[in-house]
Amino acid sequence: MAEFSLDLSEEQRDLRDWVHGFAAEVVRPAAAEWDEREETPWPIIQEAAKIGLYGFEFLANCWADPTGLSLPIANEELFWGDAGIGLSIFGTSLAVAAIYGSGEPDQLVEWVPQCFGDAANPAVAAFCTTEPEAGSDVGAMRTRAVYDEARDEWVLNGQKAFATNGGIANVHVVTASVDPALGARGQAAFVVPPGTPGLTATRKLHKLGLRASHTADVFLDDVRVPGRCLLGGREALLERLDRARSGQRAASQAAMRTFELSRPTVGAQAIGIARAAYEYALEYAKGRVQFGRPIIENQAVAFALADMRTEIDAARLLVWRAAWMGRNNRTFEAGEGSMSKLKAGEVAVAVTEKAVQILGGAGYVRDHPVERWYRDAKIYTIFEGTSEIQRLVVSRAISGMQIR
Ligand SMILES: Cc1cc2nc3c(=O)[nH]c(=O)nc-3n(C[C@H](O)[C@H](O)[C@H](O)COP(=O)(O)OP(=O)(O)OC[C@H]3O[C@@H](n4cnc5c(N)ncnc54)[C@H](O)[C@@H]3O)c2cc1C
Repeated sequence: MAEFSLDLSEEQRDLRDWVHGFAAEVVRPAAAEWDEREETPWPIIQEAAKIGLYGFEFLANCWADPTGLSLPIANEELFWGDAGIGLSIFGTSLAVAAIYGSGEPDQLVEWVPQCFGDAANPAVAAFCTTEPEAGSDVGAMRTRAVYDEARDEWVLNGQKAFATNGGIANVHVVTASVDPALGARGQAAFVVPPGTPGLTATRKLHKLGLRASHTADVFLDDVRVPGRCLLGGREALLERLDRARSGQRAASQAAMRTFELSRPTVGAQAIGIARAAYEYALEYAKGRVQFGRPIIENQAVAFALADMRTEIDAARLLVWRAAWMGRNNRTFEAGEGSMSKLKAGEVAVAVTEKAVQILGGAGYVRDHPVERWYRDAKIYTIFEGTSEIQRLVVSRAISGMQIR
């Protein structure tokens, strides 16, 4: 009989402690510096690659965990250290997941190693889908991919916005419309190999938070890629387009499932930030004395901390449930993947805000990391689908209605 348990296995505990050690000893001490510099922390990516935390083998080992919990556990710990550096290390996995999700085996073998580089000389990868006119509305994508049969090449033209690692990546995975009349179902993903002419990212974006993570606009001007760069291959694409033209919904449901699978991991990152802020505020509240007693002895402060802890634990349980469901091929009948990311993102924003409040003036200045966590947390109600889009997914799933 199947046994229910929330105890982590020995391997999961070892993974958690190992990533936590790296986050505490290497990532957190460097966080303020890279936040100020607003630069990709290459030396830290290199350290992560050296110990085996950055690379395909690590990701594959996490995916192999039959409970699905390894990836959220590792993400929570790393992002507890710092979210900007965390995304510099784990941002590549977005592109890798796209190659893994849509690519054929020989495409995995060719491109995944190039996404990571090697331990001595690590590289990063970018997944470029958002556009200036197509954010939440992915169906409005204007980037076009046209097949040049004579040369067996795809020609990409368009503009991508907010690409993590855009322009500094070795491999860019770019989504484009092959048949605009089909909206989101007429789109495909392409690998743009290192050094391909026509791909440029001249404008690096300056952000509120996650400042160690590079974000840029990406321009595609007659970018020619070999036919083998279409993820999944041309035959599968043509079949998929035919199905979409005849009104079948399978293709968009596949895309939905991919998002539902990746969202718990993003939720775990948000929980890492929230936990960092909660732990810091708890210690501060025990040590800070006003009116002759530690501020935690006031219920107003103690109850705020109790709420913070309760919300973090609730969010983590939703993340773990969705990760377990995804790994075990359960159907997301109520948009459980979206639900977990929605809750975790909003908890991260609320908890970091409360942490600033508990520190008072000290929470507002850069002598303490809490203001940085507050800035970093906000992205988690925006990227990988905004909170409103998560609510749309959940409300459509529970009602079966076309909620707008
Ligand atoms: C730091 C950072 C890193 C990123 N990294 C990547 C990346 O690596 N790759 C990538 O492709 N993209 C990336 N993005 C883009 C990100 O995914 C988008 O910003 C996000 O999906 C929202 O799109 P938008 O900014 O165009 O907002 P919009 O879609 O314009 O939304 C604006 C507001 O309107 C609301 N809204 C829109 N439609 C509806 C609706 N139907 N109902 C209710 N409310 C609605 C939204 O919730 C939001 O509050 C990144 C963004 C940032 C800031």
